[in-house]
Amino acid sequence: MAFVVTESCIACKYTDCVSVCPMECFFEGPNFMVINPDECIDCSICVGQCPVGAIVEASEIAPDQAHFVQLNRDLSHDPRWKRITQAKPPLPEHEVWAAAKNKLHLLKQQIET
Ligand code: SF4
Ligand code: SF4
Repeated sequence: MAFVVTESCIACKYTDCVSVCPMECFFEGPNFMVINPDECIDCSICVGQCPVGAIVEASEIAPDQAHFVQLNRDLSHDPRWKRITQAKPPLPEHEVWAAAKNKLHLLKQQIET
C-alpha cells in the first residue's frame, strides 16, 4: 500500500513533501500533487512534512477521501503531470485554501492556455 495525497493539498501545493522523498515519486499538476503508488516505498517520511496533513497511507484513508487512491494512480501516469523533486513556493492563495473542505471541484488536471 502506498501513501496518497488527499484533498487538503488542492490549491495549496506547498511542496514541502517532495524534497524529502527518497524515491522522487511526486508528480505535479497545476494546483495539486500526487504520489505514484508504483514507486512509493511506504517510508512515510513525507507525511510529517505536509503542513496540512494531506498525505495518508492508502489503507488508512478516510472513506470520504477514498477516491484519491485512484486519482493519485491516474494522475501520476498522466503525461501532462511532471515529476517534481525540488520544493518551490506554495500557490499564492494557499493560506485561504489550506483550511477549506470539499475542494475536489477546484482540481485542475492541465494548465490552462
Ligand atoms: S506538502 Fe502537502 S500540501 Fe504541500 S504539496 Fe505536499 S501534499 Fe500537497
Ligand atoms: S512514503 Fe516515502 S516513498 Fe512514498 S511518497 Fe512519501 S517519502 Fe516518497
